[in-house]
Amino acid sequence: MATQEKVDVVIVGAGPSGAVFADVLARAGRKVVILEYGPDWDMKDFVSSEMWAKRLKHAPRFELAGRNPPGHGGNAGWGTGGSMLHFYANWPRLHPDDFRVKSQHGRGLDWPISYDELSPYYDRIAEEVGIAGDAAAERQWFPIAKDYPMPPMKAFKNGTIFNAAFKAHGIPLAAMPTSINSIPYKGRPACTNCGWCHAGCAIGAGAQPIVGHLRDARARGAALRPFSYVTRVLTNPGGDRVTGVEYYDGKKEQHVQPAGVVVLAAYSAEVPRIMFNSATDKHPKGLANKNELVGKYLMCHALSTVWAMFDEDVENHMGTAAYQFMSYAHYGKTHAKKGFGSTFIRTGSAMKPNAGLSGARPDLFGQPLADFMKRAVRGLTRIGNSGEELPRAENRVELSSTKDEFGLPIARIIHEFDQATVDCWDYGRDQAFEIVKSAKPEEAWKGGGAAPGSSHLLGGTVMGTDTSNSVTNSYGQTHELANLYIAGGGLFPTEGAVNPTNTLMAVSLRGAEHMAKNFSTIAS
Ligand SMILES: Cc1cc2nc3c(=O)[nH]c(=O)nc-3n(C[C@H](O)[C@H](O)[C@H](O)COP(=O)(O)OP(=O)(O)OC[C@H]3O[C@@H](n4cnc5c(N)ncnc54)[C@H](O)[C@@H]3O)c2cc1C
Ligand code: SF4
Repeated sequence: MATQEKVDVVIVGAGPSGAVFADVLARAGRKVVILEYGPDWDMKDFVSSEMWAKRLKHAPRFELAGRNPPGHGGNAGWGTGGSMLHFYANWPRLHPDDFRVKSQHGRGLDWPISYDELSPYYDRIAEEVGIAGDAAAERQWFPIAKDYPMPPMKAFKNGTIFNAAFKAHGIPLAAMPTSINSIPYKGRPACTNCGWCHAGCAIGAGAQPIVGHLRDARARGAALRPFSYVTRVLTNPGGDRVTGVEYYDGKKEQHVQPAGVVVLAAYSAEVPRIMFNSATDKHPKGLANKNELVGKYLMCHALSTVWAMFDEDVENHMGTAAYQFMSYAHYGKTHAKKGFGSTFIRTGSAMKPNAGLSGARPDLFGQPLADFMKRAVRGLTRIGNSGEELPRAENRVELSSTKDEFGLPIARIIHEFDQATVDCWDYGRDQAFEIVKSAKPEEAWKGGGAAPGSSHLLGGTVMGTDTSNSVTNSYGQTHELANLYIAGGGLFPTEGAVNPTNTLMAVSLRGAEHMAKNFSTIAS
């Protein structure tokens, strides 16, 4: 086993949350090392192919359980940029009410910070990442202090074809805020609307971390070690400080990386697993887990799609993977006649043949599928809903009895949607179906079966006010070990119904700056 030179901060995972920590700490003059399980991607690597893009998704081995296991394999990122390298670039914010669900409704959890406290960080992340959108239109739902740095993306018929139908149903729309350049921004070009964002944007119009925070952190001296698989966080004999991490390199050789502070930014499934596997006699249930909350309160978003086939060309090859329009009109937690939780409705995006178009009719094979695809390449589009699930302790990550190649237990991810989420999802899908029908397509149908599809994996190491309700404080600093931090969506006490990356980067910026400012009292 080789022991590396001690650094100020070691960051586990080079996704957007790890990238923000790396950038802020490197900017503050700290010696930073980022250990990343996957490769060090370059834009030149990217191929506009859905088959090729599968190689961007590769989580450390895991096991799924529960009635509605999440699609973790498709959710995980691998390599520099994490899953933001191939994500869809929708960039909404949480609604102010998302931060106080427990105090307002007696359900779920509260965040330890308010929307107003996070709002300046949302604005700064918008400027740093580069967001296109229409803040003025979004202000009909809640305050947004600053305009986005770029105007909204170009709209195409795959979205605009529903505009009159939304209006007829009394649902106002706004442009989806998007982490894609609508105009040249910070030396990166404007988007060409090729729709291949989910294979990695090969021109850098999409704000992947490799053209943003990660690139900046490296320019300031942060070192990145690809193919580094972190297995454990190490602690001192007294058990009151972390001292670094243990990892295996691409040649399967073991290393110790000593550090003053450890930041776990390896996504919501892998972070609890590493904490459990780091158990010692002083931390028999795993690190920062005296209250047994590590791994608990896992959440997914409940997805639904309503499909529409038009007899005209809706230009579904054009645009971006992000939706064009969205609305918070159904966002109130009690808006649905049944169930509970927010619903976020979105419409219009580019779709490619394999996952996009053919996925609309998974029941078809052979000639019927070929016939469908011929019509779909011109006429298919959709309206989608994303629904909120509340945190429940039963939805969790625990250790499996299966071991990885180094003899450490893998993560077992257990998840089931409760009836309130399913009811709300069902209600939202029915409403979307009515809107689709009003646009008078040739054919309309509801995607999915009786249970929601899932996306995103949030919670598992939630933040809160103290050890009675959480693993970390509002900065991601664990309550038990002052120099162990967690970054990413695992910190979310509730998830709202919107895509999470904007919020997790804003939370990371706040946590990283707090760490940088108080470094001498935090680090070992
Ligand atoms: C197909 C898809 C579409 C999406 N679309 C959107 C969207 O439109 N809008 C939105 O807001 N969000 C979207 N997301 C979610 C978004 O990508 C995530 O919220 C975000 O990337 C999470 O950031 P993170 O830094 O916490 O984790 P990740 O991006 O998952 O990065 C974690 C990194 O840690 C590494 N890692 C894991 N285990 C270890 C280990 N043991 N040792 C070392 N490294 C490790 C991984 O390889 C990975 O690179 C999408 C995700 C997917 C998969
Ligand atoms: S649609 Fe725009 S952001 Fe997406 S891959 Fe093409 S150029 Fe890049």
